[in-house]
Amino acid sequence: MKLKFLLNTIILLIVQSNKAQPTLKVDSQPQCYSWAIVGAGLAGITALAVLIDNGVDPSTVAWIDPEFNVGRVGKYYRNVPGNVQASRLILYVNTCPFFKQINPSAFDKLYSCDPNEFQPLHVIVDPLVDFTDYLASMVTPIKDSINSLDYDNNHWVLNGTDYTINAQKVILAIGAHPRRLNYDITEIPLDDALDQDKLATLVSPNDRVAVFGGMHSAILMLKYLSECSVKQIINFYVEPYFYDAPGLEGITAAYAKNVLEQDPPGNLIRLLNIAENRNTILPLCTKVIYAIGYEPNPILVNGSTRLAFNEDTGMITQDLYGIGIAFPPTGIINGHKIAKNGLHTYLNYAKKLIPQWITNERFKEPVPSFEIIDKHPDLPWI
Ligand SMILES: Cc1cc2nc3c(=O)[nH]c(=O)nc-3n(C[C@H](O)[C@H](O)[C@H](O)COP(=O)(O)OP(=O)(O)OC[C@H]3O[C@@H](n4cnc5c(N)ncnc54)[C@H](O)[C@@H]3O)c2cc1C
Repeated sequence: MKLKFLLNTIILLIVQSNKAQPTLKVDSQPQCYSWAIVGAGLAGITALAVLIDNGVDPSTVAWIDPEFNVGRVGKYYRNVPGNVQASRLILYVNTCPFFKQINPSAFDKLYSCDPNEFQPLHVIVDPLVDFTDYLASMVTPIKDSINSLDYDNNHWVLNGTDYTINAQKVILAIGAHPRRLNYDITEIPLDDALDQDKLATLVSPNDRVAVFGGMHSAILMLKYLSECSVKQIINFYVEPYFYDAPGLEGITAAYAKNVLEQDPPGNLIRLLNIAENRNTILPLCTKVIYAIGYEPNPILVNGSTRLAFNEDTGMITQDLYGIGIAFPPTGIINGHKIAKNGLHTYLNYAKKLIPQWITNERFKEPVPSFEIIDKHPDLPWI
């Protein structure tokens, strides 16, 4: 009896450890997954749901992320005011495959919001945490960071810190990090500054804080800093901000309209980012925040970090595809090329391109330019 129990326990442990550690480096013949998705942020979650919805057997899919915590939004931006209304978040829930089925308690909060109000991002992050668990239970989740990918003998080899994973096709949803400049001033990282409570602990009444940037994040910084106790706020911007999608929305737009333009705080100045202004003012600044956009997280593909990406097909190279803020579709706004980001963009993009990635049919004929199917375009949020 005891022996049987012991045997069962050992078998259970082996099964469980196989699930958690699918292909150890020492494995001589590792399993080859049909698909691997790298990244579990908004884009990776969406891509996986759409992939399974298009008939890919989830048991043949590996999903890799070091944290499985809804990416950058889950880690840093839960309290950031979103730039879409609650109704748009609900629309995503209703149109993203499988999401509605899981009905987590966190939906209550989302559904109880005023549909026309702009909500902090945690109202969508909380249900997405449960959705991540649900999707992870369907596929093989692997907690790891992929350092490089190499194409070898008709499949991709994904070299992680702890595992090596083989897959026929790979979707990179690896996200991006805030861009920085390198002025010799103490930097407050944007990810920290976007948390208003944290920002308040990182500045003092003697600080003159320089904020670089002119859109959503930068204007939010001006709002947050003007509500902290700092000596002066100096905003260096290149282009004037603008309103409505894809410009400022929600509380950031309200602050710009009602405060910046009507009655700006006495300790706030906005200056064009030109050498003359920088040379005079920057030496006086004690802290700096760079709110100037994001750049893709690096990854080595066949020995190079310089990845060509075709936004019409979503293809990086043979059997390797990109989605999310690292590989966004773009549009021209006010004469400038801007990246289109956000849940709806990723969902529309995935619904349009993933069926083609599955069949490879897109390569037979040119694919027309990507268009947002939704009548509300998604917003750049930098
Ligand atoms: C102020 C602000 C407001 C915003 N408002 C909204 C909004 O209202 N609505 C909206 O939809 N979006 C909003 N966003 C945008 C949102 O933050 C981004 O669009 C989103 O985070 C991008 O998702 P992603 O999945 O592409 O990348 P990320 O969120 O960065 O996720 C990437 C994931 O990949 C993983 N990863 C990276 N490299 C590797 C690797 N080598 N191996 C394994 N895993 C890896 C990371 O751990 C992470 O989990 C806002 C952003 C900001 C800053």
